[in-house]
Amino acid sequence: MAGYKERKELQRDLDYIRETFYPKWDKKREWKIQRVWHLPFEGKYEVKSKRILIRNVLEDKDEFYKLLIHEVCHSVAFHHGKKFTNRLLKAKEKAEQTGQKELALKLGKDIESYDPDKRQIIGATDIYNRIGEIVVDAPQVSWANLLKFLSRENAMYPEEFLKKFKKAKNLKKKGGFIAFDKMRRVCGPSTCQKKDLF
Ligand SMILES: [Zn+2]
Repeated sequence: MAGYKERKELQRDLDYIRETFYPKWDKKREWKIQRVWHLPFEGKYEVKSKRILIRNVLEDKDEFYKLLIHEVCHSVAFHHGKKFTNRLLKAKEKAEQTGQKELALKLGKDIESYDPDKRQIIGATDIYNRIGEIVVDAPQVSWANLLKFLSRENAMYPEEFLKKFKKAKNLKKKGGFIAFDKMRRVCGPSTCQKKDLF
């Protein structure tokens, strides 16, 4: 659910997050928050311009705070690694102390989802397998639509996605989709070896 807030109100939310959860972060108050309608995901952060970007103002306050906390954590820890989850944990404890049970619960779930023992690692192989799945389901999918879909699914802009998964581009060059489809028809989806094509 999305709502609307003036920029000032959004900035007040960010101030609240800073003061309550991370008082040592951004002491000069340089970080700003901005709504960007075309964001590929709910939230993003830009170190260079010191901006937290959000696609929507989430109506569920705890959900919205969780999103802001997540992006603020990213401003100092780029990956969902130990440094990142430690910071989330700090916010979770603070949420408990300040009686924000729902928020603490949500943050706890997030922390768990980044546990390397439990989480699904999204790497190149996952992506190429995912391409295989999509192509089996929709062999006629155009490269442009596939790219749009995949990058959105992975919270990236298409350019970022192609940069990260270089082979995805090669796949287009090689006409991989046509080859994959032919193979699917010959041997059936269950016996196809996706890796043969990627
Ligand atoms: Zn993240």
